[in-house]
Amino acid sequence: MQVPYINLGLQHKPIKDEILSSIGNVLDSGQFILGDELTKFEKAFAEMHGVKYALGVANGTDALFLSLKAIGLKEGDEVITAPNSFLASASSVIIAGGKPVFADVLEDFNIDPEKVEKAITKKTKAIIPVHLTGRPAPMDELVALAKKHNLHIIEDAAQAIGATYKNKPVGSFGTTGCFSLHPLKNLAAGGDGGVITTNDDAVYKYLTIARNHGLKNRDECQFWSYNSRLDNLQAALLNVKMKYINQWTERRREFANRYYDALSDLPMIVPKDKTYEKSVYHTFIIQTEDRNELKEHLARKGVDSKIHYPMPIHYQEAAKSLGYKKGDFPVTEKQAETILSIPVYPELTDEQVGYVIEEIQNFYH
Ligand SMILES: *Cc1c(COP(=O)(O)O)cnc(C)c1O
Repeated sequence: MQVPYINLGLQHKPIKDEILSSIGNVLDSGQFILGDELTKFEKAFAEMHGVKYALGVANGTDALFLSLKAIGLKEGDEVITAPNSFLASASSVIIAGGKPVFADVLEDFNIDPEKVEKAITKKTKAIIPVHLTGRPAPMDELVALAKKHNLHIIEDAAQAIGATYKNKPVGSFGTTGCFSLHPLKNLAAGGDGGVITTNDDAVYKYLTIARNHGLKNRDECQFWSYNSRLDNLQAALLNVKMKYINQWTERRREFANRYYDALSDLPMIVPKDKTYEKSVYHTFIIQTEDRNELKEHLARKGVDSKIHYPMPIHYQEAAKSLGYKKGDFPVTEKQAETILSIPVYPELTDEQVGYVIEEIQNFYH
């Protein structure tokens, strides 16, 4: 049996006619920029996340970057984030003119509030917790810290659409929530896309202008800004997919439960929801000392797996000037050697998931 790590075409098969018809309507209407489909998508996205506003932007990185602009990030301001994330959690801070400061993570890959508190200085302006793997970060502790030290929270929810913490959706805790619609993410556009959620009227107003050249109306530019809009064509596709996102998430969670039940007795750490969390399992990452051997075994048996991410951000060449060294973030560094992402997308068959389990068990027996 073959189990690819992902199959991005498969998802569209059962809904292809619906998508083509939705896209066809946009083609006929000639509304390509800031059109009705986008407005409809933003409304549905805001509703899903229990926030006043959602705003489509060009990608998840822009969502982070524009959010940092919206809170008035200035040169020299520090933003605390996790070193084990996708690099955009940190690069967005740099391109917004600030300095990323890393804090190590917990066993579940999310930022450790105690380490965050230690990293706070007079220059700290914001925290970017990443809901990594689709699991909510420890928001009670982080919100309390932000209140105590008068900091913004910008949530990196790129991997976590639909995840909740104590029944409250991620993206509704911070000044903004930042989502990616990259084809690999749980709600996937047919290309790049992103969304910013917020309850803050002023931030929303700023962002509507900031994503559109700084134009406050058709002709008047209020401040120099960027062109970072979500295409109406993408929104037309996404509006179809929004009907299915919850059922796709449930499928991911069902597979995650099966993996947990079958694998948690083996010599590995297997992710599991805490009672007050609902994770959406963008990835299902096990941690084992035998990572490389297990990965090879699975590949020989036709099961593809990945590593998210093999190189922590502070090891990157681009991060040199930040001055970090090996040993600064022991949990992240250890995890980089032990993590393995196994297939968990909704289009997997029950048989494929059974086969992945069987082959992992075979490796250990
Ligand atoms: C994908 C991702 C991003 C960036 O989103 P893009 O849409 O690719 O720009 C940022 N942070 C995390 C955690 C991600 O997984």
